[in-house]
Amino acid sequence: MIGSNPQAFSDKAMTSVQRHGQLKIVGTQLLDQHGEVVVLRGMSLFWSQWMGQYYNADAVAWLQKDWNINVIRAAVGVTAGSGYLTNPDVERSKVQTVIDAAIKQGIYVIVDWHAHDPEPEAASQFFSSIAQKYGQVPNIIYETWNEPLPKYDWSTVIKPYHNKVISSIRAFDADNVILVGTQSWSQDVDKAANDPLGFANVGYSLHFYASTHREELRNKALYAINNGLALFVTEWGTSEASGTGRLDAKERQLWFDFMDLHKLSWCNWSVADKAESSAALQPGASGRGGWEDRQITESGLIVRSVLRAKN
Ligand code: MG
Repeated sequence: MIGSNPQAFSDKAMTSVQRHGQLKIVGTQLLDQHGEVVVLRGMSLFWSQWMGQYYNADAVAWLQKDWNINVIRAAVGVTAGSGYLTNPDVERSKVQTVIDAAIKQGIYVIVDWHAHDPEPEAASQFFSSIAQKYGQVPNIIYETWNEPLPKYDWSTVIKPYHNKVISSIRAFDADNVILVGTQSWSQDVDKAANDPLGFANVGYSLHFYASTHREELRNKALYAINNGLALFVTEWGTSEASGTGRLDAKERQLWFDFMDLHKLSWCNWSVADKAESSAALQPGASGRGGWEDRQITESGLIVRSVLRAKN
């Protein structure tokens, strides 16, 4: 009966960040300010240097209102093309626009250093500046290295990199969640489980593309969870690993079941109008939201329906 439970009524009107507040990772789980398990589900933006038209307040507001996301991922393109290393001010500005929009909408925002190779100096400088500016708000989640290539060894290259970048964040922000990429495009979470970071309040990125990655990767994830890692699917696609190709409904459902069972948070790749099957939008879709169904791809419609149902 509407109005019979004032608490429930006011909860409904609250934003995700008002409801869940400061997040933290304890053991294998993401907890909210009340110490309860929380699952975040949302969308990842595409590389900032190539899809900057979606890095604005209107697009973020639309994704919150119409797609029911409670987290958005800003993917700061680093090296490829004219990324952050070439145009730091331009790319930082795009990310800050998305952060500010997420704060306004009351959703969480993952600040993702979207790189395949290590750039420890630039990353540390970037993240310390973000932590100084935004470390006091609960919305921010840091993701220090999107997808380390297979050639970078977890223990001798990736782990020291994360230690450095995490220290640069913790100098200014003691408590927000930090997510770290794992070897081989954030798939080798088993290696991270065998040699975890020494920091508390850290989660590990697991990425999959449902038409390529199957039981073998779920088994790696299970191994990591069983050995105490908190996993966060900061990026997954409905397509093949290339970002395009066929969609596999059966494997996609197995992955949804796996993420639900283990209460894994996720962001779907991606908010883009590129002509590839993982893109959520049809070519030419507005950068400002307001998308009708005909402007949304098969993948986008599937993911939107799940976000509406589960969040
Ligand atoms: Mg903080």
